[in-house]
Amino acid sequence: MSIREDLLRVDGLVKHFPVRGGALNRVVNHVQAVSDVSFTVRRGEVLGLVGESGSGKTTVGRLVLRLEEATAGTVEFDGTNIMQLSKAEMRRFRKRMQIIFQDPFASLNPRERVRTVIGHALALHNIGAPATRGDRAIELMEQVGLSAAQLDRFPHEFSGGQRQRIGIARALAVNPDFIVADEPVSALDVSVQAQVINLLSDLKDELDLTMLFIAHDLAVVEHVCDRVAVMYLGKIMEIAPAAALYDKPNHPYTEALLSAVPTPEPGKKRKRIALTGDIPSPIDPPSGCVFRSRCPRAEAICAEKTPELEQVGPDHFSACHLTRKGQPS
Ligand code: SF4
Repeated sequence: MSIREDLLRVDGLVKHFPVRGGALNRVVNHVQAVSDVSFTVRRGEVLGLVGESGSGKTTVGRLVLRLEEATAGTVEFDGTNIMQLSKAEMRRFRKRMQIIFQDPFASLNPRERVRTVIGHALALHNIGAPATRGDRAIELMEQVGLSAAQLDRFPHEFSGGQRQRIGIARALAVNPDFIVADEPVSALDVSVQAQVINLLSDLKDELDLTMLFIAHDLAVVEHVCDRVAVMYLGKIMEIAPAAALYDKPNHPYTEALLSAVPTPEPGKKRKRIALTGDIPSPIDPPSGCVFRSRCPRAEAICAEKTPELEQVGPDHFSACHLTRKGQPS
């Protein structure tokens, strides 16, 4: 695929959440959820954002939509720094930027029929004349593999996978330019996961969608993403075209995550790299490389100096001192 222009540019994004304590409930510390994160998402591209729980990936998704306010950094969407927009101006952009939530059930009002759920999304953004919204709702249901007859059902009458399809239809209702899919399949059974991923993959091609696809495991994003960014403890460790990342990961953390993903070639297995210990507290992350307390290759320099993301191949960047010293994995 030829490289297309950026739709989203994230630069130096930081998010610290205050931790309160003591009798006066004062701020005593900060959770460093996102630390100096920069990346772009190109038009028509799906960028996977992958990491264990506590890596900051969901916070990044919320920051780029301004569902959370960032501590520092900029988010430029289609040439506009949306961090500087007023609430009213941001509402105009909301129509262009949608989210698919992790838990489809929690994100749907149990007392609303699907027709109303989709109708609200259309009315909120003033899309189409009221008389035509029913037709649009039918079109959306069919687009996500459901039927017009199901429009008058309530959310509890659907399976988990069907509810996620409704969540996708609701996000597509406003013809968005950009979607954040926040772990859209992690609450689903494995067999249903594959169906929803295939649906997203088909919709991506059909509608030329631009998407930030957040997931906690590399297996989930493999078939839907053009590029993948791997996050650990609030930072991006590696970002690369999907084919390069799965074929030849550069960063020891990516290698470890990938070692748990089955290869498509029969009989071929990846060498399992088990990570020991838990992800450290984001209140007090390790000095230097934040991955060093679990990295099987850590050296003295890793505690002293923070590795920057550096180019290690075409469109491929990795933040590891050993890579910089010419010792790729
Ligand atoms: Fe491991 Fe050091 Fe590379 Fe960090 S910089 S990933 S600790 S080798």
